[in-house]
Amino acid sequence: MSKKVLVLGEAREGALRNVSFEAIAAAKQISSGGEVVSVLLGDSVKELAVELGKYGADRVITVEHPHLKQYTSDGYGQALLAVIDQEKPEAIVFGHTALGKDLSPKIASKLQVGLVSDVTAIEGEGDAAVYIRPIYSGKAFEKVKVKDGIEFITIRPNNIAPLTKDESKSADVSSLTVDITNLRTIIKEVVRKSSEGVDLSEAKVVIAGGRGVKSEEGFEPLKELAKVLGAAVGASRGACDADYCDYSLQIGQTGKVVTPDLYIAAGISGAIQHLAGMSNSKIIVAINKDPEANIFKVADYGIVGDLFEVIPMLTEEFKKL
Ligand code: FAD
Repeated sequence: MSKKVLVLGEAREGALRNVSFEAIAAAKQISSGGEVVSVLLGDSVKELAVELGKYGADRVITVEHPHLKQYTSDGYGQALLAVIDQEKPEAIVFGHTALGKDLSPKIASKLQVGLVSDVTAIEGEGDAAVYIRPIYSGKAFEKVKVKDGIEFITIRPNNIAPLTKDESKSADVSSLTVDITNLRTIIKEVVRKSSEGVDLSEAKVVIAGGRGVKSEEGFEPLKELAKVLGAAVGASRGACDADYCDYSLQIGQTGKVVTPDLYIAAGISGAIQHLAGMSNSKIIVAINKDPEANIFKVADYGIVGDLFEVIPMLTEEFKKL
């Protein structure tokens, strides 16, 4: 049976995030020929809504309000619940992003429905859709089927291929007026710690350094290579704990989960807690001095050597391409 599916679009600093397009592709599969309605919240998002309409949504609904300029779970919650009340979807898809992880349990509990979070793949479509998600820090995968109520899922970025952008398509864009009231939190200013470079959770290429980089300066060769490859720089907790970099770069069980096309691990031993955040990357390259390092067990390509020799060589070679 075909379904009406609602998708939350996400924008950051005036640009739509890729996960919005991936969520629409997931919604298409779940809808099985039904209607896909994308929702965009913010203070001024009309132009982005038109852009979003080129990625496969049948309709886009915007809710604009000064209190939606910055994300708060109260503000976004009120806006989204109003859209859900109007549209009465049979399924809802969010990205498994910081925003999605914060907002989805709140909405699910308000609607009194279950939540299938961190979905990495979907088998089948419509009523037969089965959601696949990692458990036990990525050591196993479970298949979940929703038997009743609204199907509510969050999808892990970089796992479900988005549909191709269709420049000629213009989805029907409408707006809903929602009175956002009684906010318990108002964000007055956002102070960014590090805004340089590519967003780690959506990057196609990640270069991560571990305790083997030995110092803050030790990250410089990795940053050089990242610049050449258009990659994001990440780190193990070992490197963060040693104060070589900020915790916002940490990848793993208690850090960010990434699934890029290419993951380069330099000077990282491959502790189970680190693997939990990167072992689903499509291609893993490990550089480590120790041929017995655990990281080589998950690597597609392993280089036994000193990262301070290997990384500059890679940078020079990639520059030639
Ligand atoms: P090390 O284990 O010290 O490894 C350094 C590696 O660098 C070694 O293999 C060494 O051979 C190599 N090396 C040294 N010099 C060079 C060189 N010049 N060239 C090449 N290789 C070199 N860890 C995470 O990463 N993410 C998490 O989210 C996380 N969560 C955790 C949660 C809990 C509850 C616990 C208990 C631990 C967690 N950890 C996490 C920590 C984890 O167990 C490891 O301690 C950590 O991942 C080790 O970091 P590392 O690989 O950088 O350091």
